[in-house]
Amino acid sequence: MQKITIKKPASKGIAIGEAFLYRQRKLEADRGLISPKATSREMGRFKDALASARRRVVELAAQSEIFAAHVEIADDPFILETVELKITGEFKNAELALEETSDEIAARFEAIDDEYLRERAADVKDVCGRVMRRLKGLSGTGVAGIDRPVILVCDNLTPSDTAGLDTSLVLGIITSEGGSTSHVAIMARGLGLPAVVGAEGITDIVPPGVEIILDAVDGTIVVDPDAQTRDSYARKAKDFGARRRALAALAGLPAETPDGRRVKLCANVGNLRDVKGAVPYGIDGVGLFRSEFLYMESQGFPTEDEQFAAYKAATQALPGELVIRTLDVGGDKSLPYFRFEEEENPYLGWRAIRMCLDMVEVFKTQLRAILRASAFGDVRIMFPMIISVEELDRALEVLAACKREVEGHGAGYNPEIKCGIMVETPAAVMVARELAGKVDFFSIGTNDLTQYVLAVDRGNRRVAASFDSFHPAVLRAVNAVIEAGHAAGIPVAMCGELAGNEKAVQLLLGMGLDEFSMTASQIPDARYLIRNRSFAEAKDLAAAVLRCGSVTQVRELLG
Ligand code: PEP
Ligand code: MG
Repeated sequence: MQKITIKKPASKGIAIGEAFLYRQRKLEADRGLISPKATSREMGRFKDALASARRRVVELAAQSEIFAAHVEIADDPFILETVELKITGEFKNAELALEETSDEIAARFEAIDDEYLRERAADVKDVCGRVMRRLKGLSGTGVAGIDRPVILVCDNLTPSDTAGLDTSLVLGIITSEGGSTSHVAIMARGLGLPAVVGAEGITDIVPPGVEIILDAVDGTIVVDPDAQTRDSYARKAKDFGARRRALAALAGLPAETPDGRRVKLCANVGNLRDVKGAVPYGIDGVGLFRSEFLYMESQGFPTEDEQFAAYKAATQALPGELVIRTLDVGGDKSLPYFRFEEEENPYLGWRAIRMCLDMVEVFKTQLRAILRASAFGDVRIMFPMIISVEELDRALEVLAACKREVEGHGAGYNPEIKCGIMVETPAAVMVARELAGKVDFFSIGTNDLTQYVLAVDRGNRRVAASFDSFHPAVLRAVNAVIEAGHAAGIPVAMCGELAGNEKAVQLLLGMGLDEFSMTASQIPDARYLIRNRSFAEAKDLAAAVLRCGSVTQVRELLG
């Protein structure tokens, strides 16, 4: 028996079963050059294969939002034009032209230092793989042959592989690659399959056919368990299933404690797909729309109309508020079409609101688009990385100018649109009282706040152990922000990762947090925790935790 601990489960659940090792083969092109006379035949073959692949992804898009992006890739004229150039100009056969095109486009995405965008490379490869299989006359993928209940162990799974899984036979998924926003993670959550991703080296450790336990709740893989271990995990799996069914039944109920404290449960999203995926969780709205993804996925700065269409569609898909965070790039987030100067300390550099206030036309384009979308729903504006009253005043002046411009063009907007800030810098915490008087809401960004309060880079593995939002310094800062917001009569939300942390929910509730915004899949657990403990108890817990001077004491209290 061997126990392996995994950092972060991607989709919660527990499975026990036989390991099925799946090694993906890259479909190599039959490297071939063609005669100049054969180019139109070759283009015909390519177009037929593309059209057939497209028909299939259109069918799949009706079942899963992820494939909507695949339809866009299949329709991308850039792919067709690049392949055509290679066939007609370089006399390559369709397979070789496609392989080179796929590799070139994927390499561009892979070079971007952003996990979400790197995933787009996987999408391109997946769609091109589909076309390649058709060119080569192959059908199905390797996982289609699974004929007994198994836990799938592999390096990675494409969305097409995942969609092709027989979920009555696949009990769980373990991959050695990928992060929590990888498609296999998202789709596993959607299918309700237990999954861990990024389990480095797992395909070398697990022998095919051996029994394994996948505990994607606490993050453990047990290879070849003894009878006692198997029994104890079987009980855990049963309890987990019962709890999950109970949680699902709560989706329509308010996030309210037994003694009547009602809070909002909202989702963090990056695009319309996420919005649609979050709605079935019974959310009160979107507490953080990371608008930068719209910019990252575009070929250039998105126009006002493009942004307007995206924000309008998002608010129309939602039951409640849509808090759009204005462009937050710089730091670790880059744009493929914009050159950021090298900086010694990017996290302390030209990012977020600083960049927007310098590139005021880019900022105004976004604000006008948000204002126009506010005519169609409860759209709200949120400025990131604010550090001072002066900076906030400047942002509010730009917003006022945009309101005049939108009005001047006769476009509708909500003149009462709510505007808030992210409190994610120690400076904002210290002047929270003054900032609160100027905005309609606060939202605490604990990801950045933790990094800046503790002086620990949020993306640096070597100091990852010190990045701890349960540090009393961070918790006291959070509490101070809630108090300052409430003293000024404004609601305080949290959209950093801490809001969805099961150990933090009751503590934050007790501190008086009004809105919790998190990854949609975390919402059922948060709702359960809120509904199962009184506000009075939560307040006592918060008071006790705020007296702690060390992380150890905090963790002891929170269990
Ligand atoms: C945060 O900093 O907590 C936050 C929510 O923003 P991001 O993670 O996008 O920086
Ligand atoms: Mg942040």
